[in-house]
Amino acid sequence: MNLEITKEQKDLRKEVINMARHNLNNDEYLEKYSSEMFDKIAEFGLLGITIGEEYGGLNESYLTAAIVFEALGYACKNNGLIFVVNNHIWVSQNLIYLYGSKELKDKYLLEMVEGKKIGAIAITEAESGTDALSMRTVAKYEGDYYVLNGSKMFISNGPIADVFVVYAVTEDGPKKKYTAFIVEKSFEGFKAGPDIEKMGLGACPTCEIIFNNCKVPKENVLGSYNKAGLIMTQALEWERCYEFVPHIGVMQRIMEQCIEHANTRKQFGKNIGEYQSISHRIAEMKTAIEMSRLMMYKIACIKDAKKSAYLETSIFKLFVSENYIKTCRDAMQIFGGYGYSKEYDFERELRDALACSIYSGTNEMQKNTIYSIASMSVF
Ligand SMILES: Cc1cc2nc3c(=O)[nH]c(=O)nc-3n(C[C@H](O)[C@H](O)[C@H](O)COP(=O)(O)OP(=O)(O)OC[C@H]3O[C@@H](n4cnc5c(N)ncnc54)[C@H](O)[C@@H]3O)c2cc1C
Repeated sequence: MNLEITKEQKDLRKEVINMARHNLNNDEYLEKYSSEMFDKIAEFGLLGITIGEEYGGLNESYLTAAIVFEALGYACKNNGLIFVVNNHIWVSQNLIYLYGSKELKDKYLLEMVEGKKIGAIAITEAESGTDALSMRTVAKYEGDYYVLNGSKMFISNGPIADVFVVYAVTEDGPKKKYTAFIVEKSFEGFKAGPDIEKMGLGACPTCEIIFNNCKVPKENVLGSYNKAGLIMTQALEWERCYEFVPHIGVMQRIMEQCIEHANTRKQFGKNIGEYQSISHRIAEMKTAIEMSRLMMYKIACIKDAKKSAYLETSIFKLFVSENYIKTCRDAMQIFGGYGYSKEYDFERELRDALACSIYSGTNEMQKNTIYSIASMSVF
């Protein structure tokens, strides 16, 4: 594993920081979706960062993508917008790129990379969240179509997405089988429900989606029929890494704000940074950032080697999310009453951060996974 960042990677990181600072921090849209800002990210080419040039992408490595997405989190305050982008890239577009037939790639990728079509992933249902495999959405083969019936809950990008990766039961019984489908919002029998109001990530709209005899052309099976297991596991790996990479950048930005405050805010005639209760909180932020970054590089290298990082992404998701939330809480404490006020924005950061212990598999489930793998392996 080579941890040296190249000049090209540094330059790209700088360009992303400039682009984000100039285009993505409009306060008016911190809690509501802006298609203009999404388009700015698309224009820059970020949506296709790891996609091949034949589909309009930049064909960069997963390591470069990690470096760039950390920079995006650092320079862009709009966590909801980044969540839109991540859901589009990592659990929708990327799955089509890696597992789709040539026909599916030709049909969707170029427009997705250009940001003309937005992607989303649909696994969760009202009655099956953590226990995703107890899903009830079914797909039955009829003529040249699969007919989908059921609904999916908490779908990020749902109200704005054009293309959904949907998982459905295709064989019932004691050993259920599942298939992944590419479903377009324009397909007959597809309906998006009203926006779900959330405590944070307001710039990423969320809704339920409903399939009522929804007709999906047979060529829109993603991967193999009855074999969605691999795609689902891979989707979880991608999201448990790349949806959490920008949070490292956010932690860095918040830490820098805290250092500045600690060095200027005086109480009892001293900068508050001279009190250990403050400086130790900042030391813990720095430790979390460095440890997260190291794990991020490791996972990116595993992904560049086209291998699985199931355990590593679970550990990363758990560690980053808990430290991201802690960093936001500690920043609020360091800023005292100002931290609790809306003016300083930490309250929004905290509301956004809290979601990450739930999405991509709850942190309790990550601990179950980590324990089950750890208990089967020896040093
Ligand atoms: C902001 C946000 C965005 C999301 N975006 C998407 C999306 O785009 N697509 C999508 O498909 N889903 C999405 N989800 C849904 C998300 O994946 C689920 O909310 C999550 O998997 C938990 O399911 P649940 O909400 O039904 O909670 P439940 O499964 O009901 O869990 C409730 C509690 O019980 C605990 N629990 C359950 N089972 C166990 C167990 N075996 N061991 C220990 N603890 C357990 C959980 O950890 C949790 O604390 C999103 C959720 C959020 C909050």
